[in-house]
Amino acid sequence: LSTRLTDPSLLHAAALIGGRWLETAENGTTFEVTNPSTGAVLAVLPNCGVAEAKLAITAAEAAQRAWAKKTGKARAAVLRKLHELMVANADDLAAIMTAEQGKPVPEAKGEVLYGAAYVEWFGEEAKRVYGDTIPGHQEDKRIIVIKQPVGVVATITPWNFPNAMLARKVAPALAAGCAVVSKPAAETPLSAIAIGVLAERAGLPAGLFNLLPSTHSSDLGKEFCANEVVRKLSFTGSTEVGRILMRQGADQIKRLSLELGGNAPFIVFDDADLDAAVEGAMISKYRNNGQTCVCANRIYVQAGVYDAFAAKLTAAVEKLKVGDGFGEEVTTGPLIDQKAVEKVERHLTDALRKGGRLLVGGKRKEGLFFEPTIVADATADMMLAREETFGPLAPLFRFETVEEVIQLANATEFGLASYFYARDLSRVFEVAEALDYGMVGINTGLISTEVAPFGGVKQSGHGREGSKYGIEDYLDIKYLCLSV
Ligand code: ADP
Repeated sequence: LSTRLTDPSLLHAAALIGGRWLETAENGTTFEVTNPSTGAVLAVLPNCGVAEAKLAITAAEAAQRAWAKKTGKARAAVLRKLHELMVANADDLAAIMTAEQGKPVPEAKGEVLYGAAYVEWFGEEAKRVYGDTIPGHQEDKRIIVIKQPVGVVATITPWNFPNAMLARKVAPALAAGCAVVSKPAAETPLSAIAIGVLAERAGLPAGLFNLLPSTHSSDLGKEFCANEVVRKLSFTGSTEVGRILMRQGADQIKRLSLELGGNAPFIVFDDADLDAAVEGAMISKYRNNGQTCVCANRIYVQAGVYDAFAAKLTAAVEKLKVGDGFGEEVTTGPLIDQKAVEKVERHLTDALRKGGRLLVGGKRKEGLFFEPTIVADATADMMLAREETFGPLAPLFRFETVEEVIQLANATEFGLASYFYARDLSRVFEVAEALDYGMVGINTGLISTEVAPFGGVKQSGHGREGSKYGIEDYLDIKYLCLSV
């Protein structure tokens, strides 16, 4: 991998604690990071445990107060520099990501720029942490509301977006004046570490951003919840682990931001622009090989356009090229691991057994690759209707009425992203308001941007990332009551 990089020093097999790079963990153990396309070992990292977590939390606490005292403008200057460095090194960051995560290079580069955009955005927001003055409740009273950083923040992030999921937590935290202790996913820590290298170069003071590569996720999660210095935990991952963290955080009433699983409906109404709907479905379903929490998981198509939509989507899927993310014109990389491949297979087998009709794909290939697949005649009793497939399998459900599809779309414990295609204006508002989701893409399959609030309702979590709302997750409100 280092031969692919213009700057091989971005590839660093170490933890970052209090501004020092640690090549061995106290327990002396290590773990390997592998390339999901080839199985090749990319790096051997120190496997951090609770000892390193404690050190990092202590270092973060020591650094945070001085950082919080700085002006928003001073913090913004560091984040702006980090943004510039991420953009300047985007090709290297993308290569590191493709190697450890598998997504094709252009997609990886897109993610790097998307992650960098959060750093830019929240750097700008650092200057705009406004409070309020409130007319007093008594003649001698003056009421002032200020916002202060929550303090030390721990983050736990997944492997599907190794750069952006971290950037959109670390950037608002640093902008607000917090210090961060991060545990990136064990599958993809190298992208996170590269951001750590760049943050150091951007002039971020030591201790404000700590990185703990580790496979001991539950031990670290417990320490983050049990350590009183950690005032907040921001997690992106499965609802199952979100529940565990919420339980563990209960003892200390830990502040939590949880960005959890989804089960996104993607609805195509009779009056939709079908070509646009196909384009949206391709992006929403097959981006990152179906491994995003906002991926269309259930595609509902109204009866009048069902066959036409199915035919057009099949034609588009046949054009996808599966392979190593470094390969020419590859659109679709491997899945992250064996478990992920098995889940897609399980969902597909179950769907075919229950009457699903295979339109394209359907086979696993050597290694962790799986053919982009469409199953028609999907029904609500199939596994893929209830669970997030997290892979390149698109089920097409048929529906007749608006009421029916809204009921079907909302029949899940999840509430992250949803999508629909329609042109009738009153229908657009009716459906948008009726969907129990934190985000609704209307005539678009791509909704992620740093300027908008990303997040879910129901068991998809709480808190918002991005936009003016995103920084609030890292701020406490304090009210000053003055008698004059
Ligand atoms: P995914 O299916 O995306 O891997 P997970 O929720 O399993 O979702 O993982 C997301 C992140 O949570 C990863 O960094 C993983 O290491 C971490 N994690 C997994 N289990 C736990 C746990 N019990 N406590 C804390 N973190 C965990």
